[in-house]
Amino acid sequence: MDKQQLAVEVVTPDGQIVNDMFDMVVVQAEQGEIGILPNHTPMISPVVISTARLKKDNESMKVAIGGGFIEVDDNHVTILVQSAETPKKIDVERARKAKERALRRIKQRRDNVDFRRAELALKRAINRLDLVGEE
Ligand code: ATP
Repeated sequence: MDKQQLAVEVVTPDGQIVNDMFDMVVVQAEQGEIGILPNHTPMISPVVISTARLKKDNESMKVAIGGGFIEVDDNHVTILVQSAETPKKIDVERARKAKERALRRIKQRRDNVDFRRAELALKRAINRLDLVGEE
């Protein structure tokens, strides 16, 4: 019998970023890391701004994700998120500029809504830079 795998889709408002078979998926929920192997029980969980790792054989594909949800059902994994980039899609200069802008806004602290938005923008930018080993 063929080995069991997971059919993984990463979906964003811009469309599908990944659609492939993998052996394991690791994502970050608020409470910590979630590892999904074949035959996992059905589940829906929020995921946070982080790197999702999709593993096949000895390779690990990394995807920078914005917040959203992961759904697991019958060896299908859907990661439905605000944004998702593979390393080669990440524009380092854009992320650096977003980081600087967010830091400026956090310093100004005009109101709570702006502050929270800036904090999230900062997290997204740092997450993207981390994935490609930049700062
Ligand atoms: P920015 O302020 O630069 O737009 P952001 O964090 O507000 O950054 P998002 O709202 O998370 O951006 O994403 C909007 C779209 O832009 C998504 O399609 C996302 O994949 C893409 N994107 C954002 N930043 C980058 C980046 N540094 N490199 C590549 N794609 C990016």
